[in-house]
Amino acid sequence: MNSADGGHLARIVAEVHARLAVVTDGEVADYIPALALMPPDLFGIAVATMQGEVIEAGDTRRPFTIQSVSKPFAYAVALEVLGRERVRQAVGVQPMAEAFNALVLEPRRNRPYNAMVNAGAIAVAGLLRQHFGPAAFDELTARLSDAAGRPLAVDQAVYESEAATGHRNRALAHLLHAAGIFTVPADEAADLYFRQCSLSVTARDVAMMGATLAHIGANPRTGQAVFGLDAVRDTLSVMFSCGLYDGAGEWICRVGVPAKSGVGGGLVAVVNRLLGIGVFSPRVDGAGNPVRGLLACEHLSEDLGLHLFESSNPGSRLLPLLAR
Ligand code: GLU
Repeated sequence: MNSADGGHLARIVAEVHARLAVVTDGEVADYIPALALMPPDLFGIAVATMQGEVIEAGDTRRPFTIQSVSKPFAYAVALEVLGRERVRQAVGVQPMAEAFNALVLEPRRNRPYNAMVNAGAIAVAGLLRQHFGPAAFDELTARLSDAAGRPLAVDQAVYESEAATGHRNRALAHLLHAAGIFTVPADEAADLYFRQCSLSVTARDVAMMGATLAHIGANPRTGQAVFGLDAVRDTLSVMFSCGLYDGAGEWICRVGVPAKSGVGGGLVAVVNRLLGIGVFSPRVDGAGNPVRGLLACEHLSEDLGLHLFESSNPGSRLLPLLAR
């Protein structure tokens, strides 16, 4: 990208940030007590290109916990190390019309609907714990760090807060253990999930992690191969259909790119082969999705023509900006 075009994209990102800065809908999540301490007005948008450049506006370097934005990346790691068939036996790929933390499994198959809801993410954590043993958290963190392009670490206060209050997720882990999804103790699966959700990231990190998926699994800045092609394809497919919980259908119509939100205020969106988008805004809606994160992606999608079915030409208005 030459600097004139980069400047144009930067102007659009800055405009979208300015347009949405006034929006105060939603509430900071407080069911994990430590999350409630986050100042509600923080707002950052970062966009990472396939050249490894990051364009940013607002609070893009402010750390927050990754929460459910970790789910697609943990899923990609599981696909990578265990293979599609093994993972698919344990976790489905269907949207679930229930809350993200519902104690529900697919009828008959007795497995979680998908890896973007808590049941599926805890199933993935159990599979990883079983595969890697006590090294599971370090192995998972290493992959997520490679995707972000810097070493990530746990926010200890949020981890302890979720571990102390996450009874529903523990119940899910026991349900999954009883269903034979994994054989490690349920508490070990839940603990890995709590730690993974407590990794501290910034909007820049999230944009780069998204860009790694967009760049067929290789971090565009470091060039390091993090995920294989098949893992990326399956991960993006499930993000597309299930990433925004029970708002996923609405999201596909309005924004049209794979994405995943988290109750910590983070949101990742992936424009295949073009961009990773990371947004941070702590106020979330009733479904647990960050309000300004959704709006920022909607506005960027509209302004840049990012919808997958935009004139059958994703990035139709973005491509001229990126052309050398
Ligand atoms: N750690 C959170 C939970 O399991 C993640 C939920 C989310 O980010 O949507 O409750």
